[in-house]
Amino acid sequence: MFGRSVWRGNPARNAIALTFDDGPSESTPQLLEILARHKVAATFFQCGANVERLPAVAREVASAGHTIGNHSQTHPLLCFRSAGFMEQEFSRAQGAIQAHTGVTPVWFRAPFGVRWFGTRQAQRRHALTGVMWTAIGNDWKLGAPAVVDRLAARVRNGAILCLHDGRELRVRPDIGVTLDSVRRLVPMLLDRGYVFETVSQLICPTT
Ligand SMILES: [Zn+2]
Repeated sequence: MFGRSVWRGNPARNAIALTFDDGPSESTPQLLEILARHKVAATFFQCGANVERLPAVAREVASAGHTIGNHSQTHPLLCFRSAGFMEQEFSRAQGAIQAHTGVTPVWFRAPFGVRWFGTRQAQRRHALTGVMWTAIGNDWKLGAPAVVDRLAARVRNGAILCLHDGRELRVRPDIGVTLDSVRRLVPMLLDRGYVFETVSQLICPTT
């Protein structure tokens, strides 16, 4: 009813996807460093307003080989909103991401995971597929040990894990919990034999 979405990849493959919402933020480069250290590719659902505020960081994410998705322009709660409002949020974010990174997103994550009437038409107009998650870290409210425990307990083949490299549209948000969680989680899951893929690789595997 609210448009096509995916929650996970193929359970027969030991691949999983890390996804980060609400960026880019001033601390995103620190996250890129951690991912690069482990040669892990991820998917970043960026807000258009944050891309316009920090275009160089948005570009850095793209040039590091990560996939960029659309997370709306201003991170509104999409319920009880008009189809016109929704279309604006989708198209402004597509435009900002295209202008500053050269990427045309094909994946969309609804702010707060909330979709509403009109989401489907807007998604279709921009050829976007919705991406929900298998497990969410609650990294905006828990400490790093709890985030790591939560995700480690819920991860399985094909899982899409949701974390945040920003905090909605906040300027200079504290994402220390997210960084600590990723520092611990990535080596732990590599040890368990998982392979990290972007959402594109996870949902449309070529091998
Ligand atoms: Zn968000």
